[in-house]
Amino acid sequence: MEFLVGNAKLKLIKGDITDVDADAIVNAANSTLLGGGGVDAAIHRKGGPKILEECKRMRATEWPDGLPTGCAVITSGGNLKARHVIHTVGPIWHGGFHEEAKLLKQAYRSSLKLAVANGLKTVAFPSISTGAYGYPVEEASRTAVDAVKDFLEKEDNLQKVIFVLFSERDFEVYLKAAKT
Ligand code: ADP
Repeated sequence: MEFLVGNAKLKLIKGDITDVDADAIVNAANSTLLGGGGVDAAIHRKGGPKILEECKRMRATEWPDGLPTGCAVITSGGNLKARHVIHTVGPIWHGGFHEEAKLLKQAYRSSLKLAVANGLKTVAFPSISTGAYGYPVEEASRTAVDAVKDFLEKEDNLQKVIFVLFSERDFEVYLKAAKT
């Protein structure tokens, strides 16, 4: 399913983000940048050790205390089809009154800004925070879609943003958010 937003395409697919061919895929990382479960584990498994080495180097230099929630960093894509991985940290859901929406929006915006800063044209996102971090998918989908649409309406540099949803249900929920 594809939508036109500004001059860019917003696309939704159901699938595995580690199979997606894009300038960058986004990793729902944790602040350690040293690996986790879910999509993070899948990316490192398929991408190989180079990605983790780059993450470790960033921890040793720029982010000794870890990457704060809402921020993003970029590495190569290792053995993935995608040329780069943008690692961002979404918020942990604590009931919805702890700036979760603001931080989730920031995670999407930081990732998109970093893509533009690196001259990238196509970026794929998973559903950040809705796995281990417990963010309800309906709420997350609205914030995610709003953040991306908002960015694409103001920025001319990206060609395509893809949401890659891992389950049929998540796909349906994001589709509903994208249509409204
Ligand atoms: P978080 O800690 O940010 O919640 P998770 O990786 O636990 O991150 O989950 C985020 C979302 O990514 C969940 O919807 C999960 O089902 C999904 N996911 C897990 N593996 C993949 C994958 N290979 N491709 C796309 N999405 C995935």
